[in-house]
Amino acid sequence: MLPKPVMALAFLLPLSVFFFAEAQLNPVSAQPSQNRQIGALKQIIPGHYTYNSNNFVSGVIVTNDGVVVVDALSNEAMAKDERQQIAGIIQKPVRLLISSSFHDNFTRGNVAYQDAIRIGHENYKTDLIDLMKNVPVAERQARLPHLTYQDRMTFYFGGKEIQILHIGRAHTRGDSIVFVPEDRIVYLSELLFYDRFPWMESGYVNWIQALDIALNLDADIFVPGHGTMSDDPRQSRQAVVRFRQILVDARDAVQKEIARGATEDQVLATVLLPQYKDLSGYQQQREVVVRRTYRDLKGTLR
Ligand SMILES: [Zn+2]
Repeated sequence: MLPKPVMALAFLLPLSVFFFAEAQLNPVSAQPSQNRQIGALKQIIPGHYTYNSNNFVSGVIVTNDGVVVVDALSNEAMAKDERQQIAGIIQKPVRLLISSSFHDNFTRGNVAYQDAIRIGHENYKTDLIDLMKNVPVAERQARLPHLTYQDRMTFYFGGKEIQILHIGRAHTRGDSIVFVPEDRIVYLSELLFYDRFPWMESGYVNWIQALDIALNLDADIFVPGHGTMSDDPRQSRQAVVRFRQILVDARDAVQKEIARGATEDQVLATVLLPQYKDLSGYQQQREVVVRRTYRDLKGTLR
């Protein structure tokens, strides 16, 4: 038996128009807060917010029909804190949760979205099922999406067009980005580490091409999944360009060593990318990025 909101969606999906009147969704009510705030909700431009907790970033899109959240982040307490701030500041119910990467630190918070429709790419769902093999069934159900898609999904929600796009393998093989054309803003989730070194355990060299597609969207503002945006959100296009260059430099350096016949360990010893040594994440991820890039270019990724 499907939950009521999903049945409503099943009927309404062909129209690409959602009416939630009959769905009786119950937003989490703003509770008197004894809890300290875990993160901070901040407006980017009218109708668009980030919730940032220790440089993990969730996106918040406000429409006349309610709120769309991009990524539930690391755990239930953090997700509840975000929802409490949405309830207090925006004062509209959350209707949709769009999840990009399947990683634990972006999906454990899904359990706090039982009253929303949860959406992700079909590879996101496959990888999340795989990740949760040892997770109790109830939590598994609570984290999985209600709806998946293949290439794109477009909502006309509360008078606003919201496009969910899969633009190829990047941080994972099932990422989603969320584009709101009328506001010229794109939520890139973990496709953008804002002035930080990429984490690439399940990433691909094609991340570069995915960022090219994102940069070609008719948009001015690119919201990251990690880091802190500048106070001028229009600086974020340059942040995407800078971040893309890290991946390009890694690819080119590794490719050069491969052309010389270097082994993976030899490449690791020579491709140090010293120009990025001061970026957050470099110490932990330089080896991951080099090894992953090497295997992807050699065609030996699983
Ligand atoms: Zn991730």
